[in-house]
Amino acid sequence: MPYKKLSKTLQLLKTVYSYDNTDYSKKYFGEIGYKTDCLSPDDADLLRQHNLQPNNFQTLSHDELLGAFLKLRESTSLTWQSCSRFFIKGLSGDLPRYRQTLMSFHFMSGLEAHAFAPSQRHLNCDVCGLPKQSVFDRTHALYTYYLGHSWNETPTNFLPELEEASTFEPPEVTKEQIARLSALLRAINDASEDETPGQLEKRIASLKLLPKADKYKRYGMLQTLAVTGVLPSDPETDGQPARSDIVHPLAGWRGRMGVDYEVASKVFPNLAD
Ligand SMILES: [Zn+2]
Repeated sequence: MPYKKLSKTLQLLKTVYSYDNTDYSKKYFGEIGYKTDCLSPDDADLLRQHNLQPNNFQTLSHDELLGAFLKLRESTSLTWQSCSRFFIKGLSGDLPRYRQTLMSFHFMSGLEAHAFAPSQRHLNCDVCGLPKQSVFDRTHALYTYYLGHSWNETPTNFLPELEEASTFEPPEVTKEQIARLSALLRAINDASEDETPGQLEKRIASLKLLPKADKYKRYGMLQTLAVTGVLPSDPETDGQPARSDIVHPLAGWRGRMGVDYEVASKVFPNLAD
């Protein structure tokens, strides 16, 4: 989508999905919708054109979701290489929407056909982490990615994310954008022995390496590096109880682990350019 239209689209979604714009009359299996009377017919049309109409609720069982992922994996034009470029571009602040795709693609790549295996503690599957049943507003899920967030906690949302990203032109990355990723990895690798992920986030913030990012968006980008193994993680290392906003695998990183440059060169072949 051309950048100008994208920023208009984001502006409209911000208006609809503001916290005080909920609409309890638009409930869908317990999920609450949002008022849309702030949209002019032209606005609504623009969102429809981009398949971003608000309150686009869907219900999918574990098997339906898994089936949809496996089917998409066969048909998508996304590759490891294009997803790594999406990430580099998103990191640079040029297109924050692109930050999520690498993590979603990593998840999809690891899936295999299986039956739902209920875990002891959660209603999620022990094999893949997908819930038994998901109810979600597709557009709201995408909206958080347009804001520049990336998360690993809700893999259900990776499906609309990857479906949409499959329609994007594979991006070219510039030398400056690659240099920004290199600088970030260098800074991470410079960590002191016992640096925690929370301290790392603060240090990265003070270095001003990541434009268009707040604390949670920085966690998202660092989490993608952890999920892909660029930041090593010890599953035994406890998350920081007082900082429950950091989850594994990022929670299992400590400064002494630095950056795994061997993995980094595989995930980001552009780094060698
Ligand atoms: Zn499963």
